[in-house]
Amino acid sequence: MKKVSFAHMGYSYLGFKQLVEDMGFEAIVPANPSPATLDLGVQYAPEFACIPFKTVLGTYLEVLNRGAEMIITSGGVGPCRAGLYGLLHEKILRNLGYNFEIFIFDPPLTGLGSFFWKLRRVLKEAHLSWPAFIDVIRRAWAKLRLLDELEQLATVTRPYELQRGTTTRTFKECLALVDRARSLKEIAATREECREVFQAVPRDNNRRPLRIGIVGEIYVLLEPFMNQDIEKTLGEMGAITNRSIYLTNYTTTDVLAHGTEDVRQAAHPYLNQFIGGHGQNSIGETILYAKHGFDGVVQLAPFTCIPEIVAKSILPRVSRDFNIPVLSLTIDEQTGRAGVETRLEAFVDLLRQRREQMEAKSHAALLPGY
Ligand code: SF4
Repeated sequence: MKKVSFAHMGYSYLGFKQLVEDMGFEAIVPANPSPATLDLGVQYAPEFACIPFKTVLGTYLEVLNRGAEMIITSGGVGPCRAGLYGLLHEKILRNLGYNFEIFIFDPPLTGLGSFFWKLRRVLKEAHLSWPAFIDVIRRAWAKLRLLDELEQLATVTRPYELQRGTTTRTFKECLALVDRARSLKEIAATREECREVFQAVPRDNNRRPLRIGIVGEIYVLLEPFMNQDIEKTLGEMGAITNRSIYLTNYTTTDVLAHGTEDVRQAAHPYLNQFIGGHGQNSIGETILYAKHGFDGVVQLAPFTCIPEIVAKSILPRVSRDFNIPVLSLTIDEQTGRAGVETRLEAFVDLLRQRREQMEAKSHAALLPGY
C-alpha cells in the first residue's frame, strides 16, 4: 500500500487522514509542527522565504524521513510567492536526494484541465472510480466541516468556562471522537455528541466577553503552532475570537470561487486589487468586523509576507476610519509565546477600557439634563 502524506494545517489533518485512507493509501499523518520542524525547514529553505514555506518544508522532510512515498498538496496563485510554493518545495527536496511523487493541486479555476488530469492520475494510483471518489470526498468534507464547527464552538465556550482549561480538554476529547467517526452517519452523531459535551462545560453566563476578529495569512491563522495558540490565549483572557478563515468556508469562497464579494467591496476604497495571499481580505474582513460591532481585530502576518505587509500599512487608516483597534503581529522564527501573550494582554486591557469608556458615555447620555 502506497504511503501518502500531506501538509499539516491546524486540525484539518484528521479530515485529510480519512481522505487518504479511504482512497486506499496508507496515511503518513504529519505530526503537529514543532520547533524541530521549523528548524528543519529553516535549514534548507531560502533565508527570506516566508515562515509558512519553511514550516511546511520541515513537515515534508519529517514525513519523507518516516517513509512517505507520495505527497498530495495544494498549490497557490501569485502574485506573491504562493504561486511557486509547491514547485520550490519539490526542487529543494529532490536536490536533497529524496525520491517521491508529489501532486500539487492549484485552485481548479486557475486551470480545470490540469486539475482533473492530476486528479485522474491520483485516482489511477488509488484504483478508485469516480463515483467511489465522490463518496470519499463527501465523508472527508463532512469531517472537515465538523472540525471547523468544533473550533468555533470552543472559541465561543472558552471565555465563559468556570475552570480554566475545561474547554480545551473538551475540544481534545471531541477531536478523538471525530477521528473515530468514519461514515456520514457517524460524523453526524459525533456532531450531536460534541455539542452536548460542550454544553456541559460549567460556565458563568454573566460574563461579557470581548469579541475579537482574527485576520491574516491562511497558514498562520489555521496552525496553532504558528500563531502560539492565539485563540486559546485570547479565550482564556475573556475574548470570543472569530477567524476570517476556516478551511471549509475558504475552500468554497476562495478556492472553488473568486472570493467573497462583500469582503472585496469593503476593501475596495483602500485596496482595489488582488495582491496575492490574503492581503485584500485582511482589509475587507477588518472593515466587516468593525461593522459587525467587534471590539478589535488582530492581524497575523508572516515575516516577509508581502500581501500582509501591504495590508499592515493600510490597516491604521482603516482602524481610524472605522474606529476599531487593530493589533498587527508579525510571525517569524524568533516569535515566542511569552512575547505574543504580553502583547495580547495589553491589547485586551485596552479593549476592555475602551468598552467601559464607551458604555459610560452612553449611560451619561441617557441622564436627564445631559
Ligand atoms: S501569502 Fe504571504 S506567507 Fe503566503 S506565500 Fe504569499 S508571501 Fe508567503
